[in-house]
Amino acid sequence: MLLKCAAVLGSPSPFAQCVVFGWCLSSRELWAASQGPCVLCSDHYLLSGQLDMEGALTARDRVGIQDFVLLDETTEAAFLTNLKKRFSKDLIYTYVGTLIVSVNPYKELDIYNKKQMDTYMGVNFFELPPHIYALADNAYHTMLTEFNNHFILISGESGAGKTEASKKILQYYAVSCPSTTLLNTVRDKMLMSNPVLEAFGNAKTLKNDNSSRFGKYMDIQFNSEGDAVGGHILNYLLEKSRVVHQNHGERNFHIFYQLVEGGADDLLRQLGLERDVQHYNYLTQVCGECAIVSSINDRNDWKTVKNALQVINFDEINTNHLFGIVASVLHLGNIQFDSDSKGHLSMFEIQLWCCLTVKVLTPFTIDHAIYARDALAKAIYGQTFTWLVNRINESMENKDPSRKTVIGLLDIYGFEVFYVNSFEQFCINYCNEKLQQLFIQLTLKAEQDEYEAENIEWEPVQFFNNKIICDLVEEKHRGIISILDEECLRPGDATDLTFLERLEDKMGNHPHFVTHKLADKMTRKTLERGDFRLLHYAGEVTYCVVGFLDKNNDLLYRNIKDVATHFKSSLLKLTEILMAKEAWYIRCLKSNESKQPGQFDEALIRHQVKYLGLMEHLRVRRAGFAYRRKFDVFLKRYKPLCPATWPHWRGEPADGVEVLVQHLGYLPHEYKMGRTKIFIRHPRTLYATEDAYEK
Ligand code: ATP
Ligand code: MG
Repeated sequence: MLLKCAAVLGSPSPFAQCVVFGWCLSSRELWAASQGPCVLCSDHYLLSGQLDMEGALTARDRVGIQDFVLLDETTEAAFLTNLKKRFSKDLIYTYVGTLIVSVNPYKELDIYNKKQMDTYMGVNFFELPPHIYALADNAYHTMLTEFNNHFILISGESGAGKTEASKKILQYYAVSCPSTTLLNTVRDKMLMSNPVLEAFGNAKTLKNDNSSRFGKYMDIQFNSEGDAVGGHILNYLLEKSRVVHQNHGERNFHIFYQLVEGGADDLLRQLGLERDVQHYNYLTQVCGECAIVSSINDRNDWKTVKNALQVINFDEINTNHLFGIVASVLHLGNIQFDSDSKGHLSMFEIQLWCCLTVKVLTPFTIDHAIYARDALAKAIYGQTFTWLVNRINESMENKDPSRKTVIGLLDIYGFEVFYVNSFEQFCINYCNEKLQQLFIQLTLKAEQDEYEAENIEWEPVQFFNNKIICDLVEEKHRGIISILDEECLRPGDATDLTFLERLEDKMGNHPHFVTHKLADKMTRKTLERGDFRLLHYAGEVTYCVVGFLDKNNDLLYRNIKDVATHFKSSLLKLTEILMAKEAWYIRCLKSNESKQPGQFDEALIRHQVKYLGLMEHLRVRRAGFAYRRKFDVFLKRYKPLCPATWPHWRGEPADGVEVLVQHLGYLPHEYKMGRTKIFIRHPRTLYATEDAYEK
C-alpha cells in the first residue's frame, strides 16, 4: 500500500496520495506534509509516508468520499450514505466528476471567505475539497486558455440553494479577478444588481423565504486578460399574478414591505403611504400575519436596496419614479368599487376609476372593474421590472471594444408543487423540464453519442429522457401551449373548461397526461373535474385550469395573443445560447422541507437524486473519460513537452498525439484515441501533463 507519489508521476514534485480520494494530489503548501487530516477541512487523510489501512478506512468512514465516481458501488443507497455522512460534517459539496452536488445546509458556513477564495484560485479541480469556487475557477481558467464561452447551470427545486450558489460564484469572480478602479465599478454594479432584482423579483413562498419568482440568466463578460469588464442579464417570465394575489402563508414581492417598513417618513408622506402593511389589500389579502417573516428584515433590506440603486446609477429622479410606481400599485390595490365609491376618490382616482369602470361607454360590473384594476397593477409592475433590468444592463454595459468571452450563470425558479397549482407553476415546471432536457442532451446523451461517433468502446447506460414531456407541452399544433393559444384566439365561448376538453380530446392516452375523465377508478379519486395532471420528470403535478385562458391572454395585451408561446420561444432562445457554450453543472438538493439546519430528510433527498438523474450521470462518468480534446488542440498545447513533436509535427495530428503521449508515459488504460479526439480517463493524468507544461 505504500505509494510514493513522486514515483507515480515520475517527477520529484511535492505530491501526496490522499487515501480517501485515491489519487495523487498536488499537496502544494496547502496540505499537511505528513500523514494526517487535510489542514483545510479535515476532509481527507494524506499519505506522504506509510499508509495505515485502518486509519484510511476511518477517514473514509468519517467524512465520506468527495467524488462519487470513486464510490465502491454505484447504488442509490451508497450514494445517499455518502451524501449524508458528508452533510453531517458540514461538507455540503460533493463531486460527480466535474459536476457538483450541493446540499442546502440552512445555516451559515465559514467556507465563503476571502481566504477560501484565494485557496481555490488557479488550483486544479480535484486538488482541493469540493467547492463551488473550484468550479468557478476552472470555468474561468478554461475560458482564458481556450478562449471559449462557458455557462454554469444551477438547478434544483425551490429552496434548494440555486440563488445562493449563483451569488457566491459572482462574488468569487468579483473578488478574485484582476482589479483596477474602473473594473471595480463594473464589478460593484454586477454585485449590486442582485439585491435590487431580488427585492423586485423574489418573495416568500411556502417553499422558500426568498424564492425567485423570475428566471435569470446573467452573462459575465471578460476581456482577454481575464478582467470582468461587463455584464448582461436576461430575465424570464416574472410571476406577475403575485402582485395582486398570494396564497395562504406567502407574501407579495419583498419591495412592497421594504418600502412601507423602511422608507423614510418624508418619502412615505410624499407617496401618500401609511407605515402599516396591514393597510394595503395587496399585502394582506389572504393572511395579514404573513407580512412578518422571522428570516427577513425588511428595514435592513430596504437600506441595502437603496444603496444598491445608487451603485447601479439610479439618480434621485429615477429612484423616486421607481418608488412612486411601487406606491401606485399599493394604492391601486386599495381602490374599492361600489355604487357610491366616487364620493371618496381624489381627482386622479376618479380618472382611474373611469378607466377601470367604463369601457367605451359600457359600464363594467364590479367584478370586471376589480379584474381590470388587478390587470393594470400586474402590467405596471411587470413593465417596471423589465425597465429595471434594462437600466441595470445599461449600467453594466461593457465599454471595452476588444474581443471578450463570457461565463453565463443560469439561476431559474425551481420546480415547484403546491396544494393548488396554476398557470404560473405550469410555466415554471415547463422551464425546469426544458433545463433537464438540456442537461440530458449535454451530458448523458451527448456523452454516449460522442463515444459512438468517435468509435470508443462503450456500454450504454439507460436513462429517462424527458423529451416526451417537453413535447407534450410544446409541440406545434398538438402540445398544451398550442392548444391553449388556439383556445385563447377562438372567438365565442372559449373557457378554461373548453380548454380542458380540447386537451382531453388531443392528449387522450398520453402516458404523462391525465384528467378526471381520462383517469382509472383509483386515480379519479385524486382528481377534481377542472384539473389536469402532468407526470413531470420530477414528479406528478396537478394543475387547476381556472385562470389559464385569462393569464395566457392577459387583458391588457390582447394584441400579444401568445404569452405562453412567447415564453416558449424565449426558452428556446436560451437553450440555443447555452448550447453554444461549454457547460458546468451545480445540482442543488433541498435537505428538508422545514428549512432546518442539520436535518437530512433521506426520503426527500432520495427523490431529488432520482429525478435529477444523478445516478445515471454517475454511471456515465464512471464508465467514461474525464477529459477529451481534438487531436490538433491537444497537440498544439503540449507539443513542447516532446522533442519529436516540437517545434513542428509534420504528420497527422493523431499520430503526433500518439508520439507525444508515449513520450509522456501514458499507460494504455489511461487514454483512448477516438476518430478526432484523444480521451483521457482520469484528470490526474492530464494534471501531470499540465504541471509539466507549466514548469
Ligand atoms: P427558488 O427556486 O425558490 O428561488 P433557490 O434554489 O434559489 O429557490 P435559495 O434562495 O438559493 O433557493 O436558498 C433558499 C435558502 O436556503 C436561502 O435563503 C438560505 O437561507 C438557505 N441556503 C441556501 N444555500 C445555502 C448555503 N450555501 N449556505 C447557507 N444557507 C443556504
Ligand atoms: Mg432562487
